[in-house]
Amino acid sequence: MSIFRFLKRSDIECPRCLGKGFVDLEDIIRLKRQLKWVPAPCAYCNATGRVAKEMLEKVAVDCMYLTIDLPESIIEKIKDGDQETIEKGKLRERFIDNLIQYAEEHYFDKNMDAESIANLYLSTEEENAAFSVTKEELIQYVQDVIELKYAEIATKKNP
Ligand SMILES: [Zn+2]
Repeated sequence: MSIFRFLKRSDIECPRCLGKGFVDLEDIIRLKRQLKWVPAPCAYCNATGRVAKEMLEKVAVDCMYLTIDLPESIIEKIKDGDQETIEKGKLRERFIDNLIQYAEEHYFDKNMDAESIANLYLSTEEENAAFSVTKEELIQYVQDVIELKYAEIATKKNP
């Protein structure tokens, strides 16, 4: 890749990582992607800190699916606006949203602990097979969901 690609006039500071090339916890909170992203090099600007203006029209800055851990071919498809890939991304986000809701309901309404919730989820939800999540990962995730919910409740009480 030529250095001049970074110097194109139409390039702007990456709105996802604010030009750092890295998405940190502050960016994740700003874009409301807690529980969905972890701090990592920025996939939106490919860790360069700059993006072409046209990129903003093609891909939402907070597009959950577009993360650096995806294969390069999938990243290219998202950036090209490939419909099938975008649908797949939406499905994945829906899956995560459902899981978050599931964890909250079972913890707060049914007083279950993280491990029981993970066990119940794995025994009743068939679709998780497609995302191959281990029980340990699921328990950890449920705990993260609960922690974040408590943090949100605390912020509401003491803004
Ligand atoms: Zn970026």
